[in-house]
Amino acid sequence: MDKKDEKIIAKILSGHDAECMYDTRKETPGTCPICNNRLEDVINMSYKIRKKRWDMYDTYDCFCIVTEKFKRFCEENNYPDLTFIQITASPGYYYFTAEGVFKMDDERCKVKFMNKRECCGSYDEIICSGSFYKSPDFILQTDDFILRSNHIFGSFERKDPFIIVGLKTMRKMQDYGIKGIYFHNVYE
Ligand SMILES: [Zn+2]
Repeated sequence: MDKKDEKIIAKILSGHDAECMYDTRKETPGTCPICNNRLEDVINMSYKIRKKRWDMYDTYDCFCIVTEKFKRFCEENNYPDLTFIQITASPGYYYFTAEGVFKMDDERCKVKFMNKRECCGSYDEIICSGSFYKSPDFILQTDDFILRSNHIFGSFERKDPFIIVGLKTMRKMQDYGIKGIYFHNVYE
C-alpha cells in the first residue's frame, strides 16, 4: 500500500543490536515457570555492554539499554514516567523503558496474538505484521512525548514494547546529538 498520503504522527525508536543479557531461555528470570513467557523485565546487573558507540541498544533478548546522555536528555526535558536502572557492570549504561501507554490500532497494525496460556494469561507470541497505526480513540495532546506501546511484542521470553516518541521529540533528540537511534513511522 502506498503510504505517502498517510499522515505520520509519531516515531518508534529502535537502537543498534547488542549481545543477549541472558544466554538461554532457562536463565532468563521474570518469566513464567510453566510456559517461559516473559512476565516482567529483570535486569542482569553483571551484563557488560561491548559496543560503546551509540546512545541506544536493543539486546537480542529484548532489553533496551541507553547511555547517560540519553537519560540526561530525558531528564532535562521532564518526560514523565520513564524508568532508568543503571547496570552495575556497565557504568553509564541504563536499562530503559517507558510506562506511559500509546494505544495502537490492533486491526490496522495486523497484530497477531498466538497461543494464549492459561498458566499466566500471556501469549507465546505477539507480532505486529502491518505498519504502525494509532488507535482512533487514543488522543495525543502533544507532539513531544515518550511512551510505550500497549502490547509487548516478540516470542516467549524475548518480548518488549515499542518505545514511541513525538515528532518534536525526535527533532530534539537529533539536535541534542543523540546517536544511533532508528526512527520508524507511526501513522494517524
Ligand atoms: Zn505461563
